[in-house]
Amino acid sequence: MQPSEKALVPFVSVDNMMRLVHHVGLDTILVRIAEEIEKDFLRWDTFDKTPRVASHSDVGVIELMPTSDGEMYGFKYVNGHPKNTADGLQTVTAFGLLADVQTGYPVLLSEMTLLTALRTAAMSALAAKHLAPKGAKTMAMIGNGAQSEFQCRAFQAICGIETVRLYDIDRDATSKCARNLAGSGLYVVPCRTGEDAITGADIITTCTADKQYATILTDNMVGAGVHINAIGGDCPGKTELHKDILHRSEIFVEYPPQTRVEGEIQALADDHPVTELHDVFAGRTQGRTDDKQITLFDSVGFAIEDFSALRTVKSLIQDTNMYDDLDMLADPDDPRDLFGMLQRAK
Ligand code: NAD
Repeated sequence: MQPSEKALVPFVSVDNMMRLVHHVGLDTILVRIAEEIEKDFLRWDTFDKTPRVASHSDVGVIELMPTSDGEMYGFKYVNGHPKNTADGLQTVTAFGLLADVQTGYPVLLSEMTLLTALRTAAMSALAAKHLAPKGAKTMAMIGNGAQSEFQCRAFQAICGIETVRLYDIDRDATSKCARNLAGSGLYVVPCRTGEDAITGADIITTCTADKQYATILTDNMVGAGVHINAIGGDCPGKTELHKDILHRSEIFVEYPPQTRVEGEIQALADDHPVTELHDVFAGRTQGRTDDKQITLFDSVGFAIEDFSALRTVKSLIQDTNMYDDLDMLADPDDPRDLFGMLQRAK
């Protein structure tokens, strides 16, 4: 059999993902992913949903995030290791796969370290589009690591944010973030404290990495009317907000069975009321109801967002050369003659 006749699986490497983002344009890909997530959240009931399967250790977590809409199946492998950066490694790395439910055959394998940063930013901005105060122009960005520029650019592209106020305990991280945002059209203000960063901010994004109950925001830092986009509290024992903030906020989540274990709301009673974002997107529930309300997106990252991102990539690579064909499926002429195929290869 000729290699071209084999069942080959398109694979998007890190290099090709970078080429794809530059080819399509960062703003466009963020908008496309956000649109795809919104569409998928609008057909929430068609998805198989399960909290991700997490394997915890003292230093981090390794997770599998599966879902299916009955036609396609997808999963992401992702880790979270806050100590990695000290060794020159990423805190978060990921890859993922889409498969055809009819045959079970994979139809796409992709790097997802970059794609996770894109989809997390797209999801944050999409939630903020429904929850942030009208006319919001300034965002505080606390935690200036790997996700931070993606967050800033998504809020610029999707919510019209014009100014970002940066803060990180590591000033080199803030300098790096400011440097990377130069030329983006955002007005970038590096700040020396978290308090300084939130001054005048309509939206506060917390995106820090520390495997502990951290207090990135205390109650007195959060004024009426702001929207909080809390990204970094996404694991049992790993949160960012003081509990009192949660009691003053209207809390919005992706999938409650997962968020109650992993999100900021792990600090609250199991029956504390939360609103599911798919209900807001569908107009079944209101998002922000008044100017004084504090809205909180307790983001942990849900499998459907990765599924949406993978499907966006699958459609964007059509008619491009921005993927490699992987020979990862054994494909004997006679499907029952797997052993014969092995023997003939000798
Ligand atoms: P990173 O390690 O690259 O960056 C984290 C930054 O936070 C670092 O620059 C660090 O100095 C800073 N930081 C730590 N403690 C701080 C504090 N007290 N005040 C201010 N800054 C502080 O990590 P990353 O890839 O940018 O990810 C950030 C967080 O987002 C992680 O916790 C990760 O698990 C989480 N995450 C969540 C989602 C989601 O969907 N919710 C997706 C991806 C990543």
